[in-house]
Amino acid sequence: MNASREVERAGEPPSDSTLLDAPEHVLSTLENDGSRRWLYPRLAKGALWQRRRALAWFLIVFFIVLPHLRMNGRPFVLLDIASRKFVFFGHTFLPTDTFLLTLLVIGILVTVVLATALAGRVWCGWACPQTVYMEFLFRPIDRLFEGTGGKGGKPKRKTAGLMGGVRFAIYFVLCLLLAHTFLAYFVGTDQLAVWIRSSPLEHPTAFLVMGGTTALMLFDFLFFREQMCLIACPYGRFQSVMLDRQSLIVAYDPKRGEPRQKGKRTEGDTAGNCVDCNQCVVVCPTGIDIRNGLQLECINCTQCIDACNRVMDRVGTPRGLIRYSSQDSLDGKPPKLLRARTVAYPALLLVVGLAFIGVLATKYAFDARLTRGRGNPFQQITPGIITNNFQIRLTNRTETPHTYTIEVMEPADARLGRSSSETVHLQGNETMLVPVLVNVPVSRLGPRGQTAGRLKVRDDIGNEREVTMRLLGPRT
Ligand code: SF4
Ligand code: SF4
Repeated sequence: MNASREVERAGEPPSDSTLLDAPEHVLSTLENDGSRRWLYPRLAKGALWQRRRALAWFLIVFFIVLPHLRMNGRPFVLLDIASRKFVFFGHTFLPTDTFLLTLLVIGILVTVVLATALAGRVWCGWACPQTVYMEFLFRPIDRLFEGTGGKGGKPKRKTAGLMGGVRFAIYFVLCLLLAHTFLAYFVGTDQLAVWIRSSPLEHPTAFLVMGGTTALMLFDFLFFREQMCLIACPYGRFQSVMLDRQSLIVAYDPKRGEPRQKGKRTEGDTAGNCVDCNQCVVVCPTGIDIRNGLQLECINCTQCIDACNRVMDRVGTPRGLIRYSSQDSLDGKPPKLLRARTVAYPALLLVVGLAFIGVLATKYAFDARLTRGRGNPFQQITPGIITNNFQIRLTNRTETPHTYTIEVMEPADARLGRSSSETVHLQGNETMLVPVLVNVPVSRLGPRGQTAGRLKVRDDIGNEREVTMRLLGPRT
């Protein structure tokens, strides 16, 4: 059981409440009777906090600017799920790019796993939008309205009435802005600008999505808060498999700190460096006590490092009782950069990266896939001529409109049927199913009633693609 809670409960008078206490500490945001334990973390303005704040403000601006950035005339990042179109670094990926998208997802996953194996939950504490917005945008607003004094950073005053309304209005405006920024990644800034300028009645679905996203953000930052990291986000749950004993973590050094004891040290005192001031606990935004060891609730925000360093300065003891370290380092073992994970993951990343670049370099300006048309595969309309029924799924992979021509290359005496589309016009990134009829003399088909053939598709800037086909007819 959590040590601080044990003390708390030991001092409590016997209760005649019918509520059952949890037998042990379950969640840092739950009281023993199951009610919500609201956290009011005190701020520790140390050196790490200053670096985090600088990075956080850079990221807040970056998250807003990113969907506006363009490369090759296309958005830098666009996740257009409705049109099933994804743009990364100015390159458009379509659902037909299964291999490329798979490589991209594997690459991102391996990068996350590698970063965690090396630097622990550095993403959670330093760069995750949930942490960045919660700790550097919304909690400062709370501290402004509620004050920061009091034990455990508890508010000096509750915001109710007019002040509560003003605080809610500020939250609402910020969440509205964040929701617009968030949606810009999925619909693009041009579409977003059109929606903003027009009446909601002209785009009711988009308006409802925007309202729903704003409401979800308000729910998250106003109510759910740190529970997003503790309960909802799967990353913390996976950290135990992604970390090893050499991974960088925020850790308390029990060899140096224990036995903890309040007050000044005297000559010959055997107490450890921890003066049991609880400062590392009251600053923790997830409400845990880092002295209990590595916990999945720890988002590596480094607030306990800053708080403890300040205490160490005050009592004249070297800093670093809580510090960036690894489980092996705490056990006195030397750091080991070369280990199974740090060799295997970069090697895998290299293979995936090279494969991605290779496939990207051979990506065509358009896609042409031939399939059989609906109904009979062939029919004989003109005596001596067999007509095969196909369709080509033609995709313009560029952002600009192009015209495509289709011609039969093989067999030499085969021709396109009269109702085939010989030229097709496609807008940028448009896909069209083009019906294609191929006429072939029956004499060309072998005794098994079939022969091989080729079609060529050419665009108006000289790109060509060939597709093979099997022409069928009656057996002779
Ligand atoms: S234990 Fe320390 S690093 Fe971990 S979340 Fe709490 S304050 Fe942040
Ligand atoms: S801040 Fe440092 S000294 Fe104070 S309780 Fe935490 S670990 Fe001990």
